[in-house]
Order: sequence, then C-alpha cells, then structure tokens
Amino acid sequence: MRTHRALVIGGGVIGMCCAYSLARRGIGVTVLERDEIGSGASFGNAGTISPGHPPINRPGRIREAVLQMLNPSSPLYVAPRWDPSLFRWLWAFSRKCTAAHVEACMRVMAPLGREAIDEFGRLVEDEDLDCEYIPGGYYEVCRTPAGAEQARHEVELLREHGYGAVTLTGEALKEREPALAAGTTGGAYFPDAATCHPHRFVLEVAERTRRLGGQLFTGRTVAEIMERGAAVTGVRLADGEVIEADSVVLATGAYSPGLARKLGLDLPIQPGKGYHRDLALDDGGAPNLQVPCVLSESSVFCTPLDGFVRFAGTMEFSGLNHRMRKGRLEQLTKAARQYIDGLGAAEPISEWCGLRPVTSDGLPIIGPVPGRDGLLLATGHGMLGLTLGPITGRIIAEYIQDGAPSVEVRALRPDRF
Ligand SMILES: Cc1cc2nc3c(=O)[nH]c(=O)nc-3n(C[C@H](O)[C@H](O)[C@H](O)COP(=O)(O)OP(=O)(O)OC[C@H]3O[C@@H](n4cnc5c(N)ncnc54)[C@H](O)[C@@H]3O)c2cc1C
Repeated sequence: MRTHRALVIGGGVIGMCCAYSLARRGIGVTVLERDEIGSGASFGNAGTISPGHPPINRPGRIREAVLQMLNPSSPLYVAPRWDPSLFRWLWAFSRKCTAAHVEACMRVMAPLGREAIDEFGRLVEDEDLDCEYIPGGYYEVCRTPAGAEQARHEVELLREHGYGAVTLTGEALKEREPALAAGTTGGAYFPDAATCHPHRFVLEVAERTRRLGGQLFTGRTVAEIMERGAAVTGVRLADGEVIEADSVVLATGAYSPGLARKLGLDLPIQPGKGYHRDLALDDGGAPNLQVPCVLSESSVFCTPLDGFVRFAGTMEFSGLNHRMRKGRLEQLTKAARQYIDGLGAAEPISEWCGLRPVTSDGLPIIGPVPGRDGLLLATGHGMLGLTLGPITGRIIAEYIQDGAPSVEVRALRPDRF
C-alpha cells in the first residue's frame, strides 16, 4: 500500500505546525520554503498567544481608518496608491465592520481560541519546546478614558464567551507592573493568554518535525501548484523541478494570493505590515518590564523576552514589500515612553518588519478547496498566526487523515467569499 505524501508550501509558523501535525500522525510530509524556516511574519511578531479576541473588523473601524488613513504615524495606515485589489479588499472589509459580524466571529473564534491555547500548551509540553513559553496572560494599559472604556467593552465580550478577562484600575495595574508611568487610567488583564519567543518556537517545531521524519527544504520557491482534472498532483518549483504529492497545503501567509491566483482562486488577503523594535535590558535601553502589556491607544505590544523587551505593532497597508518606514519604527518606542518609565537612549538590538496575511472578514482560511481534490489552504491568519498555529496544524492534519476536523471550523472554509 502506498503511503500518503503531503507537501506544505511555506515554512512559517502555520506551515511548520501543519507539517509537525502531519508527521506526528505518520504522514510523509515535505516542507518547501523559499527562504529560511521562520523568516517571514513568524520571525519577529509580538509573541503573544492571545485567544478569543474579536476580529479587526469592528463597527466604527472604517471611520477610524478614514480619519487615520493618511497619517503615517497612526497605528493604522493605508499608503495612498492606485491598487484595485486593495480597493476591492477595503470594500469587502468595510461590509464586515458590523456588530453582527463581530458576534458571528466570536461564535467561532471563542471556542477555537480555547482549543488553540490548549493545543499550544500541549505541544510545548509534549515536545519540551525551548521557546520561553509563559502561560501568564497579558495586560492592556490605557491612558485615556476612551481607551479604558474600549478595554472594558472587550473584557465584557470575552467574559460573555467564557474567558476570564477582568478590568483593572490604573492603581491596580501599577501595583502589578511598577514600570508603568503615572497617568495610567485603567485597563484589563487577559489571563487566558500566554507569551513565547516566536522565532524559537518555529525553529523548535521544525526540529521536532525533522525528528518525526518530515523533510524540510529551504531555498526552494514553488512557482505553481499542478493539477490534473479536479485533483492536485504536486508542485513545480521555480527551477523547473516537479514534486508530486497526494495533498498540497498552501501556507505562504501574505504571499498566498499569488499562487492561488494561478489556480483561478481569488483570496481576499492584503499584506498588513507590522514592525518590531527590540531593546536590550543590560545596556539601559529597555525598561525593566515584568509582564507583557499592550499599550491600548497606540496598539503597541511590549513583550519581555530573554534579555530584551520587544515593542511590536502598527498595521500598514502599503503592498507586498518589506520597505521599513523609519517613522513607524520610531512610533513604537515613542508611544512606549508615554506609558512606561525607564526607556533608555541605547540603540535597538533589532528592527524588523513583517507582513500579516489579513483577510477581508478578519477570519483565517483553513480547509480543503471544494472541487480541487488534495488542495488545502492554511492562510490568512492576520494578527493571530502564532496563536492559531498549533490548532491550524491539527485541523489540517485531521482533514487530510480523517476527512473532517474534530472542531467546528466551517466558517473558515476557503469557499466562503
Ligand atoms: C508586528 C507583528 C506582530 C504580531 N504579533 C502577533 C502576536 O503577538 N500573536 C500572534 O498570534 N500573531 C502575531 N502576528 C501575526 C503572525 O506573525 C502571523 O499571522 C503569522 O506569522 C503568519 O504565519 P504564516 O506561516 O502564515 O506566514 P509567514 O510566517 O509569513 O510564512 C510564510 C512563508 O512562506 C514562504 N513562501 C512564500 N512564498 C513561497 C513560495 N512561492 N514558495 C515557498 N515558500 C514561500 C515565505 O518565505 C515564508 O517563510 C504579528 C505579526 C506582526 C507583523
């Protein structure tokens, strides 16, 4: 009997978690990554595993976006340019900025989030992953009454869906994190969340996948997914080599629309650029932050990691490129200085940008493509790729091995658009 051969395109957190889950089930899996493992958006994200939060499509978001749109220092920025695919995406996005859509998303994402955090913890423990995993939650810190009100609303929504979120006064926050500056008006604590070193996590998952017999190839660019009739047969690489497979998993993050388009599939994904700036603890650059925080009004995540603090955030729609705008990097630490005492003047030890794959309805795309036997999509995770990595891997492996997943994810199917 011939064994099943699966190909995963993309070696980011999503591709690696899919490959790991397949290898764990004894399925022969090969990963094709055009660069290095974990070199895309999964390299430098904020490292929070943050389940159950509503999508970015929310009532009022479009008004907010229009007001902030052309301001290059606002957290959300759309670079002015002529791009019909961006206009189509913005139109589809705006139609989903409703209370009804938020509620529909919460009905799927709240239970999935609980599975996601369990799956993450289990994976770290079972495989003894060395990735600074801390299941200690994170804090939201506000400096305006409007920010505190928004945090209170988020807490209510999460509590309605079974999460243990709580609101906190400014004093209570300051007690838990002495590095917070005077003037903190309040915020929240999200105890169900966790943090880890995101790049180490991907590398550790890759290592375990290899041990389980998975084959990982770097520097291999997939040019095309091959089909015969209604079934995929494998891929063709940029150098012309053809690799055959029974299943192909497309997990190329923000780059997914290009390969999908060649198959006639139109994926409504835009690259949402985000930045990080890391400050070392030992040279007086970083504040002595004890707990991970998100700075509410400026949407900057501050994550203490081994020897440094990572400041990460901003959402910039400026196309499929890795150009870094200095001003937006500055914005991360400029915002942090208002909320946290003790940021020194030392040079950052790392500055980086990555592209989140953001769908127009704010939900990831996970599952088989109807009418294309053997083709599965695992993409569009937006701001939640790290959080949803292990559960996405499990879902994809269950689709391939059992024909259906053990969790309810029909709302994430690829043909919903
Ligand atoms: C600043 C910032 C902060 C974030 N913070 C968080 C957070 O705290 N928590 C969270 O859950 N998420 C966070 N995210 C989102 C998260 O990083 C992404 O959702 C996630 O990394 C997406 O993973 P991916 O595997 O789909 O994509 P990627 O990591 O981008 O991987 C895709 C891979 O596919 C490869 N590839 C592309 N085309 C081809 C091809 N043709 N052939 C072969 N290989 C190809 C690329 O080289 C790349 O390695 C953040 C993102 C940013 C930018």
